[in-house]
Amino acid sequence: MKVLVVGGGGREHALVWKLRQSPRIKEIFCAPGNAGIAGDAVCVDIKAEDIQGLLAFARKEKIDLTVVGPEAPLTEGIVDVFREAGLKIFGPSARAAAIEGSKVLAKEIMFKYGIPTAKYGSFTDPAAAYAYLKEVGVPCVVKADGLAAGKGVIVAFEMAEAEAAVRQILEDKAFGQAGENIIIEEFLQGEEVSVLAFTDGLTVVPMLPAQDHKQIFDGDVGPNTGGMGAYAPAPVCTPEICRQAVEEVLKPMVRAMSEEGRDYEGVLYAGLMVTAGGVKVLEFNARFGDPEAQPVLMLLETDLVEIIEAILERRLDQTEVKWKNNAAVCVVLASGGYPGSYEKGRKISGLTGLTAADAVVFHAGTALKDGHIVASGGRVLGVAAQAPDIAGAIARAYNMIEKISFEGMQYRRDIGRKALVKSGK
Ligand code: AMP
Repeated sequence: MKVLVVGGGGREHALVWKLRQSPRIKEIFCAPGNAGIAGDAVCVDIKAEDIQGLLAFARKEKIDLTVVGPEAPLTEGIVDVFREAGLKIFGPSARAAAIEGSKVLAKEIMFKYGIPTAKYGSFTDPAAAYAYLKEVGVPCVVKADGLAAGKGVIVAFEMAEAEAAVRQILEDKAFGQAGENIIIEEFLQGEEVSVLAFTDGLTVVPMLPAQDHKQIFDGDVGPNTGGMGAYAPAPVCTPEICRQAVEEVLKPMVRAMSEEGRDYEGVLYAGLMVTAGGVKVLEFNARFGDPEAQPVLMLLETDLVEIIEAILERRLDQTEVKWKNNAAVCVVLASGGYPGSYEKGRKISGLTGLTAADAVVFHAGTALKDGHIVASGGRVLGVAAQAPDIAGAIARAYNMIEKISFEGMQYRRDIGRKALVKSGK
């Protein structure tokens, strides 16, 4: 098989790394890829959002299967365009991916079908939004409706912050069209967990639960980022919480999507808050999370191609998805200044000879410049390791990090600590 992976971050490197282990695959291409992916796949200089460019490439190269990493091409309809052209592609259609593309739509469906989530109001009119804020008070959460690269959510503890968020999104149009609508949501207290599932629209197979670390600094302090590290399995997802995630969230959502004429197939990601009253949905994503994909795919025992084919042929119920009996952690190394502005082009040293059976350095924002690998994004590398327990995986990942350096490199020292505390170590 010839496979094309769409995207160029750490998630896509993990997808390429996992797909490469399949005996079914002869050649992997990645568009656009990055300097690390270039070691595992043929990188093609086509942007992930350039659907027509990707289609032309897939036709020319006679690609047998396309796997889409990021949300933007999914919500823009890459799956529909490829299918119309008779090409095999893994991911939800635009109508299905809309549950990530529109938070208002996701909320409406959750309320209609009784899927647990925070109470909310949705607004296009600033005056109505300010009036609602006065009524509900703080803390509350203001969210832009559309895709805003993780920046469209403001958790406000002061009324002035909440009002500023409304003004920024609805009046100043800080996120353009993505902010034509907003949601104002009840603040939920608890610990977050990401439960992803494979689904063919009929059967839902959950993956190992993972936990992301959104804030830039240790102890969950500072501004939100795309994710500074993740681990799996997350012990906050006890058997009862996992049951709720599958039976009360993922399965009902897949059924609801089908009833809404939005048949869902691919990866369904539920971002959940484990509250005193059980799990509540913070958001749905229409694809693998980044960085959650790195530890989760490291622990996936079954051939990913087998799972994808079972989904495309709607026979996921007959496929056993097996997981390694290990724990895995991924620590993100970011550029100095991220998530604000940062310098690009810093040379990275210490990368050679690190990848082993239990450890991988996944590349996110890297590029090749004058024969050197340099940092070219906010999140630069994801140092991932697995071990029989979470303590071992954490130790192994941080041990590798000691060998890597670039000017301004920053990372959290506490990835996975919550799991260690829970396991009493
Ligand atoms: P979202 O993109 O909707 O998942 O929001 C991004 C982040 O904002 C989440 O990972 C949470 O940390 C936080 N967040 C979102 N909604 C809420 C909520 N209702 N209560 C508390 N925190 C929230």
